[in-house]
Amino acid sequence: MSRGVAILGSTGSIGTTALRVLARHPDRFHVAALTAFANATLLREQAEIHHPSFVGVVRNGAEHPDGWREGTACLVEAVQRTDVAIVVNAIVGAAGLDATLAAVRAGKRVALANKETLVVAGELVAAAARAGGGEIVPVDSEHSAILQCLAGRGAADVRRLVLTASGGPFRDWPRERLARATVADALQHPTWRMGRKITIDSATLANKALEVIEAHFLFGLPYDRIEVVVHPQSVVHSMVEFVDGSVLAQMGVPSMELPVLYALTHPERVADTGVPPFDPVELSPLTFERVRAADFPALRLGVEAGRAGGAAPAVFNAANEQAVALFLEGRILFADIPRAIALALESLAGAPGGDLDALRAADQEARRAVRAAFP
Ligand code: NAD
Ligand code: MG
Repeated sequence: MSRGVAILGSTGSIGTTALRVLARHPDRFHVAALTAFANATLLREQAEIHHPSFVGVVRNGAEHPDGWREGTACLVEAVQRTDVAIVVNAIVGAAGLDATLAAVRAGKRVALANKETLVVAGELVAAAARAGGGEIVPVDSEHSAILQCLAGRGAADVRRLVLTASGGPFRDWPRERLARATVADALQHPTWRMGRKITIDSATLANKALEVIEAHFLFGLPYDRIEVVVHPQSVVHSMVEFVDGSVLAQMGVPSMELPVLYALTHPERVADTGVPPFDPVELSPLTFERVRAADFPALRLGVEAGRAGGAAPAVFNAANEQAVALFLEGRILFADIPRAIALALESLAGAPGGDLDALRAADQEARRAVRAAFP
């Protein structure tokens, strides 16, 4: 039976990737709902091709055909529809949280690209999934790799997780040059074409911090058993070291089509030839390096926020979102991004994180702190 899929953020990098993957599997899946922030032109083209029963555009006042829903509420409405079994959450930022919560509460599978969801509210998402019977299956390539390596084994069998990081465009830049990196420099990612926010996060390594926190919540491992190693080729997507010392790694050509498909079909594997064949010789050499932690402080700041728990990860995420927006607007320097994060974490260290309201308040406070520090 064909399963209905909602794609939130269908106009973005992951959203369009998901539509390409779904189009190859019409016998298994159909597009039931599409939402986007503001790009009504592309959303309309997608709707004409895929015929979803629901289309929503978040930004009020965006011009759109009759019958579309408008405003933030369309996200939760989309995931709750009875013809939706799987939600691909490809929204960028904390804006994706409510939809994830509503989806798992309604018993749906969430194919989660929106890692910010788990960073901001990992415990609440887990509780909502337990209560509603829903599940999170990661789209992030590292977490998809770990899920595949674990193959059903639990934390007790695992010594540690090793997340790979491409290192971003500045992997081999000397520290002095880093301070002067421009927006255009930071948007040149060596191995992945992605949305602007995650591309900047990959340059600062804030993305890897978000992913360490995401891994903590997905796989239930403490932070001292989650490590990061730089792997510039992005072919080994991550590794699991088991208690007996054996290490499994998952590999593949660097294409998000693979983890998107796996998130839809997990634990099954479905025949698909959408990405170029894997040629290990062509992809050689595969190399690994230590992270230059002192030169990319966002990684450490994020992991420390993860360890601190409570609202700290939400503060880290919100400060980063705000700082990245300011950087993209040309209003702060590249090196100001980790400074802004550090500053927000210092001033909001003890913020409570018990419930959604507290987390939302911490998020807003962090954004305000960053704006105030860089007027
Ligand atoms: P993107 O900017 O290309 O697309 C974002 C999508 O979200 C767009 O469709 C946009 O309309 C929608 N959106 C933006 N703001 C919104 C809001 N306030 N409310 C509702 N919808 C909104 O981003 P992307 O690169 O596709 O990344 C999406 C998510 O996937 C991020 O969390 C990112 O970290 C994660 N991710 C992306 C990649 C990748 O290869 N692009 C890989 C791993 C994880
Ligand atoms: Mg990733």
